Amino acid sequence: MPLSIVRRPDRRGTFEEAVDLVARSQIGHLGTVTDDGYPYVIPIFYAMLDGRIVFHSARAGQKMANIARDSRVCLEVSHSAGFAPNEKLCDWEARYESAVVFGRASVVTDPESKMAALQAIARKYAGTTDYSTIKNLASVAVVAITIEAASFKKYWPAERPTN
Ligand SMILES: Cc1cc2nc3c(=O)[nH]c(=O)nc-3n(C[C@H](O)[C@H](O)[C@H](O)COP(=O)(O)OP(=O)(O)OC[C@H]3O[C@@H](n4cnc5c(N)ncnc54)[C@H](O)[C@@H]3O)c2cc1C
Repeated sequence: MPLSIVRRPDRRGTFEEAVDLVARSQIGHLGTVTDDGYPYVIPIFYAMLDGRIVFHSARAGQKMANIARDSRVCLEVSHSAGFAPNEKLCDWEARYESAVVFGRASVVTDPESKMAALQAIARKYAGTTDYSTIKNLASVAVVAITIEAASFKKYWPAERPTN
């Protein structure tokens, strides 16, 4: 398991802050492991459901093959509020917050759980849970990530003076 501790204590947050940022964010960058050990990162939409991260996908493709072979995943989310400029380029500061989550991904097969995940995603992005138009639930894959570790890092000088 990776270390999951931000080195700088002044920028380090809690597990709860990390999960909260994941819940508040719109796009996650999902890392999986290819068959020859390369990291493979793609953007996804997702939702939190019962403490897990859920997303939907085509049933085939690189990320699904990676997950089937190796369930270890990493998800990153981040926000930036831009820069605090300075006359000296080296003293420019970037304000940001980000979270890194490590976990295990598994394909959800139970129809009720799949529907619950799709509804959570629809609620988050579309503000609706009306999935009555879905003709074939089996045509879409749903993946759930069980979180094993999470870290949060924030550098927001206006709120956290650094002296
Ligand atoms: C904002 C956003 C949200 C998204 N949300 C979802 C989601 O919720 N669920 C979902 O399944 N997909 C989502 N996608 C698409 C996702 O990023 C992948 O393109 C898609 O899931 C296919 O991935 P795959 O591993 O099956 O790729 P494959 O089709 O197997 O891809 C083959 C190759 O194409 C390249 N490739 C794949 N995807 C991308 C990409 N996004 N950008 C550049 N190159 C790529 C890679 O080199 C990869 O090895 C989203 C994309 C964006 C930009």
